Amino acid sequence: MVATMKRPHNFSAGPAVLPEAVLRQAAAEMLDWHGCGMSVMEMSHRGKQFEQICDEAEADLRELLSVPDDYAVLFLQGGGLGENAIAPMNLIGLREAHAADYVLSGSWSVKSSKEAKRYGDVAVAASAEQAMDIDGKQQGAWTYMPDPAAWKVRPQASYVHLCSNETIGGVEFTDWPDLAALGAPETVLTVDASSHILSRPMDVRRAGLIYAGAQKNIGPAGLTIAIVRRSLLGKALPICPSAFDYGIVAENDSRFNTPPTYAIYIAGLVFKWLKQQGGVAAMETANVAKAALLYDYIDSTGFYRNPVHRPVRSRMNVPFILRDDALNAEFLKQAEQARLLQLKGHKSVGGMRASIYNAMPIEGVRALVDFMKEFERSHG
Ligand SMILES: *Cc1c(COP(=O)(O)O)cnc(C)c1O
Repeated sequence: MVATMKRPHNFSAGPAVLPEAVLRQAAAEMLDWHGCGMSVMEMSHRGKQFEQICDEAEADLRELLSVPDDYAVLFLQGGGLGENAIAPMNLIGLREAHAADYVLSGSWSVKSSKEAKRYGDVAVAASAEQAMDIDGKQQGAWTYMPDPAAWKVRPQASYVHLCSNETIGGVEFTDWPDLAALGAPETVLTVDASSHILSRPMDVRRAGLIYAGAQKNIGPAGLTIAIVRRSLLGKALPICPSAFDYGIVAENDSRFNTPPTYAIYIAGLVFKWLKQQGGVAAMETANVAKAALLYDYIDSTGFYRNPVHRPVRSRMNVPFILRDDALNAEFLKQAEQARLLQLKGHKSVGGMRASIYNAMPIEGVRALVDFMKEFERSHG
């Protein structure tokens, strides 16, 4: 019965909604993958079946993001926060100074910079912590992206770190600068793209490393993706665990030790689903339409408000505050009754947050906007 019932719309920031078609295929293949008599969970990570699953997932991800051949694609564990330590352990030693500069644009990049301090000389390249006047409008803390032209990048820094989509604040930034133009030609850009990878085309070449926890826009928690320029491999600090040394993992095709096999399998199904949808360009078109639907409505009313500077509003994570905080509990209760799930905002921002990742159909956003209108009508 459950199988034929329409599922609710799930706006969780992560772990997040997956394409229904993928869940159905995984269910159908749960006990017996392609007639081999085993579940993917029961296979050796060195056997021919899993090798095929893993290699296809990598090839499909490469195709989707147009990853050049001189970049390795790694399937790791440890999540986004794990990468906050793993990335410095691999890259801060690229240059003698063991220095790294961080762009602070919200909760996640602040966390990244704190973790990196254990591994070297970390400085702030730019920060959005202070309220600022932009285009004649006062922008509050963490509601804008510091202008790259004003980033202070030390020429001796091994890398500059950026979070290209701040999942909590709802700030997205994809116009990645050329660090040579900022006076640091040997410094590489590292990007935490956890919450918007595959939602739009990305210029992989602009970065030396792009990483992402899978549970936002790719697949199950437990898998972390790293896309890293091969010329940066092999420079890990001696304290870096072998299983997290990008060079070692790359040499072993992500099977140095047992990778999160089932999560890789589901991610692979999501990649095939994305290709069927038309790839990341088609996803971008859909995501632009979904985001516009929600932001246009929010901007049209005084009842709801999104504080983020318009050019860097996230297409994936849309925080919105109700005019009266006392209505939050009632909003969430009625939303759940309307089968709109997990809309509670992060405690640091308050209000609501609608995460509208690739797997959220536009019907879900329409249902949310219709609900918000009705709630405004009855409580405004
Ligand atoms: C969710 C998230 C993380 C944290 O990921 P974990 O897998 O929980 O460690 C890191 N960065 C960003 C941008 C995120 O959205």
